[in-house]
Amino acid sequence: MIIADRIARIGFSSTLKISARAKELRAQGVDVIDFSVGEPDFSTPDNVKEAGQRAIEENFTKYTQASGIPELKKAIGERLFEDHGLRYAPEEIIVSPGAKACLFLLGLVLFNKDEECLVPAPYWVSYPEQLRLAKAEPRFVPTSEENGFKLTPADLEAHINEKTKAIILNNPSNPTGMIYSREELLDLAEVLLDRNIVVIADEIYSKIVYDEQELVSFASLGDKARENTLLVNGVSKAYSMTGWRIGYTAGPKEVIQAMGKVQSHSTGNPCSVAQKAALEALAGPQYNLRMMRQEFQSRRNYVLHRLSQIPDVTCPKPGGAFYAFPNVSAYFGKELDGMRIRDSHSMAFYLLEKAHVGIVPGDAFGAPEFIRISYATSMDNIEEGMDRITESLSRLRAAPKEKVFMLDNKITRNKKRVAADTGISLEERSKLMALSESHLKFDEYYEWNANINGVIIQLRTNSKHLCGFWMENWYPAELESDLEPHGLIVAVKGVKGHEAHAYYNSESKTAFFVNANYYGMVRGWALGIVTDIAERLYDVHAVRGACLDHDGEGTLIIGPTGAGRSTMTYGLLRDENLRIHSDDWAFLRYRNGEAIADISERKFYMRTNIVEDFDAFAPLFARSKCENVATGKDECTNTECLTKDDCDLEKNADYCFRAFDNSRVILDPNWLGGPQKYVRRTKIKNVVILKRDPVSEPVVAIDPEEAVKFLATGRYQVLSSGSRGYGNFKNQPFFNPYLLVQDPERIAQHKSYFRRLFAIAKPYVVNTGVGEPDKIIERIRELIV
Ligand code: PMP
Repeated sequence: MIIADRIARIGFSSTLKISARAKELRAQGVDVIDFSVGEPDFSTPDNVKEAGQRAIEENFTKYTQASGIPELKKAIGERLFEDHGLRYAPEEIIVSPGAKACLFLLGLVLFNKDEECLVPAPYWVSYPEQLRLAKAEPRFVPTSEENGFKLTPADLEAHINEKTKAIILNNPSNPTGMIYSREELLDLAEVLLDRNIVVIADEIYSKIVYDEQELVSFASLGDKARENTLLVNGVSKAYSMTGWRIGYTAGPKEVIQAMGKVQSHSTGNPCSVAQKAALEALAGPQYNLRMMRQEFQSRRNYVLHRLSQIPDVTCPKPGGAFYAFPNVSAYFGKELDGMRIRDSHSMAFYLLEKAHVGIVPGDAFGAPEFIRISYATSMDNIEEGMDRITESLSRLRAAPKEKVFMLDNKITRNKKRVAADTGISLEERSKLMALSESHLKFDEYYEWNANINGVIIQLRTNSKHLCGFWMENWYPAELESDLEPHGLIVAVKGVKGHEAHAYYNSESKTAFFVNANYYGMVRGWALGIVTDIAERLYDVHAVRGACLDHDGEGTLIIGPTGAGRSTMTYGLLRDENLRIHSDDWAFLRYRNGEAIADISERKFYMRTNIVEDFDAFAPLFARSKCENVATGKDECTNTECLTKDDCDLEKNADYCFRAFDNSRVILDPNWLGGPQKYVRRTKIKNVVILKRDPVSEPVVAIDPEEAVKFLATGRYQVLSSGSRGYGNFKNQPFFNPYLLVQDPERIAQHKSYFRRLFAIAKPYVVNTGVGEPDKIIERIRELIV
């Protein structure tokens, strides 16, 4: 089933991931100490549990008012008055299933599309995703360790603009434990309130503060503050009630009412029994709190003490919550047993696998140099866990100064084909030539003649990248100065005020690329120009398709994008008697009743995500020139990976070949299996035309004239990206987007070439949409071997 793109891009929170891995290890018998938890390790107080039980016995198990029962709202009001001197009427309070739900609702009711919400970093993991789901834009405001992770008025001012609607102030903070004093809050209030910026005050940890401090609630700073604040709190942390799911928001009536509307149409009321329990928690005796605070405070002191003894680790003193947030970046770049610490993710991974301690990487909170240690676990566990962290960090050594391996990878301005005009006039050609030449300065000029099947195509460009790929891709033509190329490609970048665009003039066999440096299209057009020339002059038949050889007899594999041509081709190559000829394009000549196919490319230009099916290619790709291979998780478009949430880029990898669906490599075909697996000439005997749909016959030996018709129409079903869902139909004559000239005469000529081919070679249609790839590969193998 296909899920919406904006959801597919969201990962599970790192907390969940680390806990899941910790559980997995535990199930294997490993004694893992979990410092990743986000909830108190105490049980819900007995009086609260009893209140819940009573509610069940009294059958208080039906729908309640959608925004919460009146007596709970009253108790919340009284608690806010007792704790902060704040007065809220019941209609200024809404009870929701957890503070998390309160924040989510606030996102929905406060923001219009693209309005911004300031989010001081480090931030709680769910803020950015919640805002994005509400179509708001999180704007992060970095804070520094030196300032104790506290926002300064200057930081704040620098990030406010006309789109700023609100700020989320999390006090005390998860993950840093930082808390603001009254004076600090007043300084921030001065900046915010003058500009009427809404303050979402997430004070869920308000009861967990140390050193005899009391939390100052933002709304209590004055009338104006109260008017502009939405105070979010709940019973999860203060009363160890995370599973009961009760949170609340207090603030201006109109916002609370709007939240109520959304809640009534989404979750409905929070759990009736939990509301009764929360009522007891808030209105009943509070002595458990003091005990919990005491306990957390001694644990915090202990953790800080232990961290202070680890060389090069620093950690600001947390004033609240139950987290320490040490800076561990001094250990980045070090390694043990080949396991290198690159960032907070690999640190989390290392500590879990080597020290059997689960922590959350700071990256998840927008602070990549840190890790979060939760001390919501027993003192025994904390002692043991800190021992293990200390010990495993001490074993890390500076990585040997071997040459750092770097992928030869170019990220291009455009990552797929750009808009094109293949019918420009000679006059337009002259104008484009003048424009291009003005951008080809002598000290930034690359020129190279390629010999593509006997046709000479010259590339002139100011893009080192394009020339680099070009030189690897083709056999060179002699470089005599009087050699006139048959065709010309001029590619210029850095043309101001010009959209990425490609142009072709067939009369002069000249192509232009303006601000378009994706090599795939330049390569395709080079082959297209050769086709334009050679099919007229030399009676050469250009076929976009892969080609395999079996004992001198060739099989062409033709098909549209998405039909699995590469998977089939490389899958077939596993047969020891099959050899690769070309993976995308062949030029055929008809001589003495034979169709002779010649290669044209010195190196293959392949999609790197083929490693999903052929992981043995990965090391070959790593040693070749690449284009647009993803180096960060934000570049990943692989929906399957994103939903599985098992990401190499997050663990230890510098790059991922399968993250982006159009990343490319230029590979020497000899590397695929040595010279004995590669041929440069073969005689075509079979043509396999691929299609992909969920219903039609797996293999059909098709009548030659039918096959010609099918190819000329080039009708295929479009797959939705990254999935097996089928979309609309499209037509791509001869499944070849690079036939630059497609007038009726050329189409007729192309058809007649295929008629000649099918007089010699047998056409089949294979449906790759039914059955597993291996099964389909076997079907094709049976046809051709
Ligand atoms: N805000 C912060 C900063 C939190 O850490 C958490 C819980 N981890 C929440 C909100 C959500 O709390 P609740 O259990 O009430 O949904």
